[in-house]
Amino acid sequence: MTLTQKPDKTEDLIGPLDEVFGFHAFRPNQEEIIRAILTRRDAFAVMPTGGGKSLCYQLPARLLPGTCIVISPLISLMKDQVDAIRDNGIRAEYFNSSLNGLQRSEVLRRFSGGELELLYVAPERFAMDSFLAILKAVPVCFFAIDEAHCISEWGHDFRPDYLSLSLIVEHFPDVPVAAFTATATKRVQRDIIDRLALRNPHTVRASFDRPNLFYEVVPKDDVDRQILSFLHNRRDESGIIYRTTRADVEGTAAYLASQGVKVRPYHAGLDSETRKKNQDAFNRDEINVIVATIAFGMGIDKSNVRFVVHGDLPKNIEGYYQETGRAGRDGEPAHCLLFFGRGDTATIRYFINQMEDEAQRSIASGKLGEMVRYATANVCRRRQLLDYFGETLDADNCGTCDVCTSNTEQADATTEAQIIMSAILRTGQRFGAAHVVDVVTGANTKKIRDLRHNEIKTYGAGKDKDKRFWRGIIDDLLAQKFLIQTEGQYPVLQVTLRGREVLFGREEFYIIRRPETQGHGRSAVTDDYNRELFEQLRSVRTRLAEEQNVPPFVIFSDRTLHELACYFPVTPDEMRCITGVGDMKLQRYNEDFLPPIRAFVESNPQVKSNAAPPPPPRATRQTKSSAGTTYNTTWQMLKEGLDRSQIAERRGLTMGTVSTHIERLILDGRDVELDRQVEPAKRLEIERLFKHLGTDSLREIVEASDGTVEYGEARIVRAAMQTNSDRK
Ligand code: ADP
Ligand code: ZN
Repeated sequence: MTLTQKPDKTEDLIGPLDEVFGFHAFRPNQEEIIRAILTRRDAFAVMPTGGGKSLCYQLPARLLPGTCIVISPLISLMKDQVDAIRDNGIRAEYFNSSLNGLQRSEVLRRFSGGELELLYVAPERFAMDSFLAILKAVPVCFFAIDEAHCISEWGHDFRPDYLSLSLIVEHFPDVPVAAFTATATKRVQRDIIDRLALRNPHTVRASFDRPNLFYEVVPKDDVDRQILSFLHNRRDESGIIYRTTRADVEGTAAYLASQGVKVRPYHAGLDSETRKKNQDAFNRDEINVIVATIAFGMGIDKSNVRFVVHGDLPKNIEGYYQETGRAGRDGEPAHCLLFFGRGDTATIRYFINQMEDEAQRSIASGKLGEMVRYATANVCRRRQLLDYFGETLDADNCGTCDVCTSNTEQADATTEAQIIMSAILRTGQRFGAAHVVDVVTGANTKKIRDLRHNEIKTYGAGKDKDKRFWRGIIDDLLAQKFLIQTEGQYPVLQVTLRGREVLFGREEFYIIRRPETQGHGRSAVTDDYNRELFEQLRSVRTRLAEEQNVPPFVIFSDRTLHELACYFPVTPDEMRCITGVGDMKLQRYNEDFLPPIRAFVESNPQVKSNAAPPPPPRATRQTKSSAGTTYNTTWQMLKEGLDRSQIAERRGLTMGTVSTHIERLILDGRDVELDRQVEPAKRLEIERLFKHLGTDSLREIVEASDGTVEYGEARIVRAAMQTNSDRK
């Protein structure tokens, strides 16, 4: 038979995706990367923030025998990451300097015992021979390198610690390596692949498009008040407000707090303890809003950030895109709002002019120009962003930016353009926007009097309109290249050849008018869920998060709560259809979430009958038990009468993995012959320990047994106890 390889390649991956994570479909590129890893090939993936990189290594870690080693730069994040995947029932630990000696040896013991599917480590470990020796003694299925751009000096976030990762391929020639990053130009991409010595990696560059993010730019006026008004309909949503200076961070935070917003500041001037405290409060939904400098963000893994507001102009599009990318990681709608004022450009230019290196200065200045164009051109924001990263937007109308969605109307502003251009030319093309506006509005400034600009023909020709209007005309003329602005410390306006065509009436000039209400709109989140129930479920989530000492989004994402408050599931089977509810989470949380939903439906019977039926999971019970899934193979062997060690040996899996299969089968209601897996006397002892200690934790049982009980046994007995109590 030549087709023997086939079943592996086409193995159903939606089944395990749904079982473990409760997701019904892959995000773009995930499946492709996972399949490459499963065929033991090196992989390299550039995917935007929120694109779902972690799942690309977590799912294969579940499916492959051996432990996946994840290298991640931020020690402060590891605990949350590990908590989140453990909650999906994946056996993960982290190993870094934040653990004490006892904890470390416990992690190593579990790792060496083949208990772990994932082990998170910091990059500096790879410079230690002792650590490499430990790794070599245990089967490693593959290495996953997160934030891989940190290895490149061309990237914007180089970390010397990452250089030791180039040893991996040398020391572990037979183990595949998968590298992930959210930001890499083509040049950085080549550099990463070279330095890690990846071997003909399967390479994926995902689209930078984030369709769930709404992009909007609003003229900046009284920014604190504008922000407050934006927050008005978003009282319970989480969001980040970026300001450039520490003083502005403090000022905006204090103002919002005085208006009753649950808010804290974050900037490098605060001591590290306060910073951590404020970041945690935000992560855990104790406050809604964090006002921060761009020092805030790298450590933010929070998936339910519903808006990112920039109170000042960012220096370049890369930074802006990365900061807005922190919104809406859960895939739910989120809002990115930029307040644009021309004054900010001058401030940034001032800093650029301080740069020593001439080449760097000119790069920075070019990037600022792009940023200003983004904010001022009446061109779809998404099209501009994608353009910047070398992609083209297919659709004419993206549907999710202010330019594409507002009721815009074109207005002929040729006359206004002529007034401005005439003023520029008559003053000798030697002045900036502020002075030109003063001239056309007929201002009585000392500068105007000194230069006798009150004597030129266009002085006061536009005094029926305010300064803001004329600033807008200049922005549009710049965006449409009828004017240019010189670089340097004192930029001046000049009329281009195209501009002269307008001036002499041979070409027309149009502006796009938009309703004044932009930026005060409704919340970004879709409206078709019940807010009252959502709030109830949110408080259930908060309570569980507090009990477990994890951030709320680790329990369920906002998306999951929205769907619960939209489809009103009342049985575990119905709840299992909701996005984000995998087998483990259903098992863990159905008793916390279903009763409030049932009570709500009982007192509001109309909601359920009006609700759309929940989407059927792509992986139904049928697919799960269909031949080919790894669980089913274990099930067949159990029916043949094999015990765990025999199955592990035959399938080339660890005992730990086989134990999780058996756990799953038991929880699924299969009739597993327990006595064959755990001796009856031992089983009674384990049951006694669980009851006596009043815990669900396998670790506590194993520790309390003085080495007589292993994790797999405790796991199987726990599953049996759980199903028995379900039946009662
Ligand atoms: P990244 O590391 O690429 O920034 P994450 O791995 O943190 O992104 O994923 C972002 C969010 O998307 C997480 O909340 C994750 O659970 C969710 N997610 C990932 N893959 C899927 C999927 N296939 N379907 C639905 N949600 C997903
Ligand atoms: Zn658009």
